[in-house]
Amino acid sequence: MDTDAPLLGEPLPVELMNTVWADRDGVHDALRDRDHTRAWLHAVCARTDLLTPGDLDGLTASDLDGLGQRLVGLRDALRRLAAEATEDRRPAAASGVRDLEAAVTALNRAAGDTPRWSVLSWTPGQAPSRHVRTSGQAASAAVSAIAEDAVALFSRDDRLQLRACFGPGCVLYFVKNHPRREWCSAGCGNRARSARHYQRHRGTTA
Ligand SMILES: [Zn+2]
Repeated sequence: MDTDAPLLGEPLPVELMNTVWADRDGVHDALRDRDHTRAWLHAVCARTDLLTPGDLDGLTASDLDGLGQRLVGLRDALRRLAAEATEDRRPAAASGVRDLEAAVTALNRAAGDTPRWSVLSWTPGQAPSRHVRTSGQAASAAVSAIAEDAVALFSRDDRLQLRACFGPGCVLYFVKNHPRREWCSAGCGNRARSARHYQRHRGTTA
């Protein structure tokens, strides 16, 4: 199965935030069970430097439950921090983590959870290359790596480019990578424009 998370090509911490997404039927969780957790990890593994599809095949049900719990905990912490950074007041987007300090603690714990390090490999006659190693499971180390990326995102000026999407009913975040970008996606832009058009039309006929 494929993940139902709207992967928008954002940095991975933002993609993780967006595993909470909404449509006409309400708010959904793309990490709601172990199959969805595996599907999301499968969809993003090529963007990590240590997780492969083969690593995911080797995970047991209880591995996936544990990973799911850690991803959801990290995700809710990141959404709390994103709400702080963007002054987001969207009620449907509110994180289960209310306290800023609790969110920071959860993020830092996730970053340090599974140690990772780089090694150089250099065979004579070939180009040297970097590989990431971990003492734990690759999937677990990938969660820690996403947390570490989030530490970098929130501690740098990148934080100032983070936006809550104010498309109708949208609960997603995005990084404003273009001065004219207003929405998480073209779909949200279209919905916002038709909502405005509808409002104007109603205004003139009422
Ligand atoms: Zn949106």
